[in-house]
Amino acid sequence: MLKLVNVQSFYGKIQALKGINLELHEGEIVTLIGGNGAGKTTTLMSISGLVKPKFGEIIYRGQQIQTLNPDEIVKQGLVQVPEGRRIFPDFTILENLEMGAYLRNDKAGIKADMDYVFGLFPILKERIQQSAGTLSGGEQQMLAISRALMARPKLLLLDEPSLGLAPLIIKDIFNIIKQINKEHNTTIFLVEQNANQALQIADRAYVLENGEITLHDKASVLLNDESVKKAYLGMS
Ligand code: ATP
Repeated sequence: MLKLVNVQSFYGKIQALKGINLELHEGEIVTLIGGNGAGKTTTLMSISGLVKPKFGEIIYRGQQIQTLNPDEIVKQGLVQVPEGRRIFPDFTILENLEMGAYLRNDKAGIKADMDYVFGLFPILKERIQQSAGTLSGGEQQMLAISRALMARPKLLLLDEPSLGLAPLIIKDIFNIIKQINKEHNTTIFLVEQNANQALQIADRAYVLENGEITLHDKASVLLNDESVKKAYLGMS
């Protein structure tokens, strides 16, 4: 479904990605784990068109997309939930969800998807006219995921959905990510520093260090890998 071939991205002279190769198959949950500054966010932004790679190819459903602009990429069903959530704080929940569907005009489909996200997160329906900025951190993350779902993604890119959330809420969010993958036929690419939780729900995983992929395997294998345990799972 998605393939990155030798993707190299820069910020000025700083090379953040040093030749990334990875692939995602339809229906999978794949996670990209790595420490601070490894290049996880840059990988997602390169896929969604917000950072333009200097070298390499990004192939989505058979078509090169590395030169397309972000709107064109969203239209094709490749949608990112950014780190830090970035909901529109002064807009209501309803308005935020409507913004998620701004590139669509299939009214019945938009209504069906809104019902779907309210089924996933009933609290958002209860607060539909509340300003998004007054929601708790966990609720804002729910809204950010819901807003992305309103764009009807085929491939959902999630940037650290657990960031800053309490353990119980993290568990809920990860369960919902799994549910979206299963019920909604959505392939998931999950970037996380919370490697333990991410590896528990993922089919496969890549480890990113200093702009390079250093390991990739089935998530269940990496959960038991000594170097991963030591570096990312807090076990020695
Ligand atoms: P974290 O988990 O801490 O968010 P990350 O793995 O997502 O980290 P990136 O945010 O992709 O890492 O950053 C990769 C590298 O690129 C880092 O060295 C970072 O300092 C640098 N970088 C990121 N954004 C910019 C920018 N806008 N300008 C200059 N350098 C940047």
